[in-house]
Parts: sequence; C-alpha cells; structure tokens
Amino acid sequence: MQAFLFSMALCFLSLSLSAQSSFIQNKVIAHRGAWKKNELPQNSIASLREAIRLGCEGSEFDVWMTADEVLVINHDVDFQGLDIEHETYETLLSKKLPNGEKIPTLEEYLREGMKQKKTKLILEFKPSEISTERSERVGELAVLTVQKLQAQDWVEYITFSYEGGLKAIATDPTAKVAYLTGDKSPAELKEAGFYGFDYNFRILQLKPNWIEEARQLGLTTNSWTVNDPEVMQFLLDKKIDFITTDEPETLLKMVGK
Ligand code: MG
Repeated sequence: MQAFLFSMALCFLSLSLSAQSSFIQNKVIAHRGAWKKNELPQNSIASLREAIRLGCEGSEFDVWMTADEVLVINHDVDFQGLDIEHETYETLLSKKLPNGEKIPTLEEYLREGMKQKKTKLILEFKPSEISTERSERVGELAVLTVQKLQAQDWVEYITFSYEGGLKAIATDPTAKVAYLTGDKSPAELKEAGFYGFDYNFRILQLKPNWIEEARQLGLTTNSWTVNDPEVMQFLLDKKIDFITTDEPETLLKMVGK
C-alpha cells in the first residue's frame, strides 16, 4: 500500500512538473499576434490563435480602457474611427474588425489564451492620453482582471507607462512587468521592482551591455519590433531572452523551430 501511495505521489509530482514546464521557450514573441503573413487583423483573436498555432513563446497584444472602464484589445486609441478612451464599450460594439470579429475584451482575450498552456500572453497596457491617473487605473485593472481569471501563469506585462507599471507592481508584487520606453537602466528597473526590459532594438544597438547587465540583475530582456533578420541575429548573439517581431515565421526558422 505504501509503495502504491508513493508511486501515486511521484505520478502527481511529475504531472505537476510537466504542467509547469509546458510553456514553449524559443524567444519568439508575435507582435500584436501573428497577423502579417495571413493578413489577419492585428490584435484579433484570430491573430492570437495563429501565434499559438505557430508555436510562439508569447503573443503580444495592446490594452486600452473605455470611458466606462472596460479593458479592450486594440493597438491605437482609435478603433475604426472611435476614440476608445472617450467611448463606452457598448458604442465600440457598433464597429467590427475586417474579419468580422468585434473588439475583444481583455477577459475574452485571456480566456482564449488560457485554452492552451504553450504560448504566453504578453499584455501591453497603454498609457492613457487623458491622464496619468487613467494610466495607473489601466495597470491596476489589468492585474485585477488577470487575478480574477487566475491567468497569472500565462501573463507577463509590458508598458510604456512608468507610473502604470509601478501601479501594476503595487497591485500584485508578483506581477511580471517589463518596461518599454528605454530611458531607465537595468539597475533603475531592478530598484523599482520591474521584472525586465523590453526596449527598442536601436537602444540595444547603442547600449548592448544593458542585456548582460540585466541578466546579472535577474531581469528579463526583450526587444521590439525586430523584423530584420540581421538585427534578430545580433540580439540572439547577445543571448537576449525574447525578440518581439511582426515576422514570427522568420524568427522561428532562425531559432530552429
Ligand atoms: Mg504593443
């Protein structure tokens, strides 16, 4: 009986370990989902599904907050001629993406991504064009939504809003938030509680030592938006953790996937 219980315990242990390690590690982050090759709308559920189908390590998407505090997925503040920050969610439903999808909510996007456990969800919350307070609220609400859906295992955050990033970290100190703007050194990010950086590749071409500095500090390193294979190779040679690209098919080939 004891041997049976022991083997059952081992079985559960190996199952839970395999569940933890099921996320892909190939450095490839699809920027706004994988949309370009198949002409899918950026930030659509369809582009998320394609990034998952390709086997990307992560699929990135952009989050804005409507006037009535619904978090929705779109790159720009403008959605089909409507200003997301000044419109209600209900009003946004009057427009459709070119493939017939409505604008996804953050909840819908997370639920879609959580149907699998191979591709991570790289959640960019956008700085408000109205106020710093709204930027902070978007960061806070994004984290609370992820907590509500218990999506923490899937989600890592990125943001250009330093204040919003700090708010997200304060809301959940375990939230993995990387900073996008490129005006902070790895040491400053570590001090502020960020998880890593996600900087434009031109900044990292000027300051390539930041990649190694970040690694020494235990920060993750990512770069956007890298579509040129030569720049991809430069970053791979520097052993960057992730590369965010509109060309995930190209980068997948380069990393041998
Ligand atoms: Mg983005």
